[in-house]
Amino acid sequence: MKTSLRLLNAIGRSLPRSRSTSFIGLGRMGHEMAYNLFSKQFAQANESQFVVCDAIPESTQSFCSNFIKQYPGANISIANTPEEATLASQTIITMLPSSPQVLSVYNDGIIPTLRKLPAIQAHNTLCIDSTTLDVDVARSVAKYVTEAGSQMVDAPVSGGVTGAKAATLAFLVGGTITAFEKAQPLLALMGQRIIHCGPSSAGLGAKICNNLILGVQQIVVGEAMLLGTKLGLDPAVLSSVISSSTGNCWSISVNNPVPHALPEKSPPCEREYEGGFATALMLKDMGLASNVAALAGCPVPLGQTAEALYARMIEERPDLARKDFSSVYRFLEKAMEEGNTVKPGVVLP
Ligand code: NAD
Repeated sequence: MKTSLRLLNAIGRSLPRSRSTSFIGLGRMGHEMAYNLFSKQFAQANESQFVVCDAIPESTQSFCSNFIKQYPGANISIANTPEEATLASQTIITMLPSSPQVLSVYNDGIIPTLRKLPAIQAHNTLCIDSTTLDVDVARSVAKYVTEAGSQMVDAPVSGGVTGAKAATLAFLVGGTITAFEKAQPLLALMGQRIIHCGPSSAGLGAKICNNLILGVQQIVVGEAMLLGTKLGLDPAVLSSVISSSTGNCWSISVNNPVPHALPEKSPPCEREYEGGFATALMLKDMGLASNVAALAGCPVPLGQTAEALYARMIEERPDLARKDFSSVYRFLEKAMEEGNTVKPGVVLP
């Protein structure tokens, strides 16, 4: 175990980069994605080498320990920095919280390292960023990676932690056809649908539009469930009716916010809203949508209202920031119990 978890102090000289894959960002999503990717790569070729990197050392330690327990003999190592992770592997996957972390990992770690590599090694390197972040930041990072001679795709995901665990994610990919074709076989080990959306940042554009819908949808599902319960309906009956009617959507039929409303499923509400998509991340995505909409001159009044509501929720209930965003139901419920009308600062065109 000790040798497998050794620090990579001689990376680049001792390891063949072509057989190695680095994964940076082992959070709720990254942990599951890296696990699927590495276990399937190991099954395909057990001489593959895996490198993990995270700002929290315990995350990489526990990932490696679990992986080695499941796959004895696997060659998995910890990189202390994105620079080490880049020196170690020809494929670098990043799954970070948002723009500031991507800027720091790429601009201070990956890109300067790519610039120092021999041209052939830089040429063979592929960066895949699955973070949901600002379109402009993604474009600029991809430009610098490309100028360093390497290839890059933005490949944000849809499907949540459940999809990451089950390897059923949808990857929305932006980049050249060549980069897409290089990334596709790897992404297929972590997801089910790999969609080329267009040039660099197109995947991100698609992801932001999807989450604009999702952020609004989860609030209105919370409102409807609360109203229905107040009108005396059983949450399970109401959910079943809506799921088979025109109001059906992922937020009611999969991510239902009311415990026991989906007897055959286990959404985050069944675990005190743990383990899903954090409210803080949803607030971030609503912000990404309003920023890019403002730049494009496109009105998003419901998106802005939802953004204001999530912001107020986190301000008043900081304990819900890390919980699944379906906990907006709890926020609305508390407002109802206190006799408050939630006034999120509606912005209408
Ligand atoms: P997370 O906060 O759980 O994980 C992020 C990880 O990045 C953490 O382990 C953190 O320590 C690490 N990190 C942060 N800064 C770093 C740095 N400088 N160097 C190395 N590691 C660093 O977030 P998550 O839920 O896994 O989400 C990741 C991305 O995926 C976000 O952009 C999110 O919007 C998107 N996403 C999440 C979900 C979901 O359901 N959680 C669904 C779809 C998309």
